[in-house]
Amino acid sequence: MRRPGFIQGRASLASRCTLAVGGDADYLARASSVDQARDALEWARVQGHPLTILGGGSNCLVADEGLDGLVLQFLPAQRRTLERHGDRVHIGVAAGHDWDRLVDWSVKHGLCGLECLSGIPGLVGAAPMQNIGAYGQQLDNVLEAVTVLDVATGQEERINRDELGLGYRTSHLKTEWAGRFLVLEVEMILRMGAPESPRYGQLQDALSGAREPDLAQVRDAVLKLRRSKSMVYDRKDPNHRSAGSFFMNPRLLDDDLIALEEKLVEQGIDSEALPRYPDGDRWKVPAAWLIEAAGFKKGLERGPVGLSSNHSLALINRGRAQAQDLVNLAREIHQGVAERLGVRLWPEPVFLGFSDSVRELLEANK
Ligand SMILES: Cc1cc2nc3c(=O)[nH]c(=O)nc-3n(C[C@H](O)[C@H](O)[C@H](O)COP(=O)(O)OP(=O)(O)OC[C@H]3O[C@@H](n4cnc5c(N)ncnc54)[C@H](O)[C@@H]3O)c2cc1C
Repeated sequence: MRRPGFIQGRASLASRCTLAVGGDADYLARASSVDQARDALEWARVQGHPLTILGGGSNCLVADEGLDGLVLQFLPAQRRTLERHGDRVHIGVAAGHDWDRLVDWSVKHGLCGLECLSGIPGLVGAAPMQNIGAYGQQLDNVLEAVTVLDVATGQEERINRDELGLGYRTSHLKTEWAGRFLVLEVEMILRMGAPESPRYGQLQDALSGAREPDLAQVRDAVLKLRRSKSMVYDRKDPNHRSAGSFFMNPRLLDDDLIALEEKLVEQGIDSEALPRYPDGDRWKVPAAWLIEAAGFKKGLERGPVGLSSNHSLALINRGRAQAQDLVNLAREIHQGVAERLGVRLWPEPVFLGFSDSVRELLEANK
């Protein structure tokens, strides 16, 4: 089977990922239709090439060795309205649609449910992978289903939200089904009308001047907050080469929380100052706070990598970093927080092309 014309040989991945590190892909397919995606998958299967799926590259860390085989980007970006029921609007959005353009569209059309997710980089197809969330909203609040292509069989399938194992920054697509499905379309149900009052403290403060903020005001406030933390992708910002939050917020059981408080006291830190939020039978504590308490401050520099000067949770490439520099810093922080505070942090981005060398980092919370 001849290589289809839209599959290019040896392609840079660093230039396609926001961390701007990592080696090349042997082959890159930029598929602009389901048929092209099928052809690319078939070609990879016949050639015996391993497959990696890439969206906008804002939540990946690619190894310096690059990726063997085929990297597939699915780029169709159409949006359709599937149904309207009273104030509910059911939409289907192709995986290649830019996430923030979708949020902007929803806000301009008076549709609630995505406004707090403004400014998150990347494509719609990746949003269910880790059930994206910010400022009190999560995708699973509005997600209805995903249409996927089974990579092994080439069959299309519609998977209902209840079967996706959605949780805090996770889903079956990110864990046990990783690599099994190409997401083609994401269905969401949005609501027409006024937005719910923001639940997130910082956002409430930012909107305190507005008694009943409308969707546009919420979006503007979120974007402003995110900019102040370098949490929008802006090439003019010296902190821009990041994957956003590098570690997830730990969810601690009561006993672990007590142990953490004791460790804080041992370190001479006021344990009352530890922010904590009830989350089911657990307590969510901010990883950024723990990282700072363990001595890793905003703006920390380690040669070509460091921490964002605006957010201690964002590891950044300061310009000429290799993926290994980021791994080394992640490991240093991971170990420092574990040793000083007894809490293990779990990375949020997906590590692509790494061997066992990063296992202890990725199995931190298992
Ligand atoms: C500055 C910044 C701020 C951020 N803020 C947030 C935030 O507030 N909240 C949040 O949740 N995340 C945040 N992120 C992380 C990231 O933007 C999201 O996780 C986003 O959804 C990733 O989209 P992407 O298209 O770039 O995915 P990629 O990074 O390209 O891929 C991520 C994973 O999804 C898989 N994937 C991508 N597309 C598909 C597809 N069509 N089918 C199957 N698998 C696919 C990839 O294989 C990979 O495993 C931030 C990142 C940055 C750089």
